[in-house]
Amino acid sequence: MMIRVSELEDEGLAVTDPRSLEPAFSDPSWRLDALSLTIAPDGVDVVVQGRMTATVPQTCGRCLESFPARVDATVDVRLVPRPATKDSVKLGADDLDVDFYVDDQLDLNRVVETETTLALPMKPLCREDCRGLCPACGGNRNLVACACAGRASDPRLAALRDLATRLRH
Ligand SMILES: [Zn+2]
Ligand SMILES: [Zn+2]
Repeated sequence: MMIRVSELEDEGLAVTDPRSLEPAFSDPSWRLDALSLTIAPDGVDVVVQGRMTATVPQTCGRCLESFPARVDATVDVRLVPRPATKDSVKLGADDLDVDFYVDDQLDLNRVVETETTLALPMKPLCREDCRGLCPACGGNRNLVACACAGRASDPRLAALRDLATRLRH
């Protein structure tokens, strides 16, 4: 969804329909569930504020299963016109959420995708109490109660046991 900055009204533009951004993300497996954003001019800048929720496939860091992660992001971004010169714009320390728009065109999809990416979990877990993979047999302990439980779970010991089994044959 491209927004012409010079046509923004002072009170801002409200965007609340996720379908107005279809396709919302460059990756079709990502889904924009809801959004409530206001895009308002502030001098030559544009401020995008509000909330959005999305569902993004992630890989669990413990069991390595793919799962749909729900992303709930608060959006508060200032977009400044990209300078015509190559001079870099000096950003203050508290201006981390600053982005650019180019040629009077603000790409709202890019803002939404960036904010969603920033809100993704650093260490995704399919659930808080994910039991992960068994270090001995590699089984997903959420799905199977393997027989390794209670035995030494050190993978080096597992390798030794494996060797011992083969030597017996
Ligand atoms: Zn997991
Ligand atoms: Zn096991």
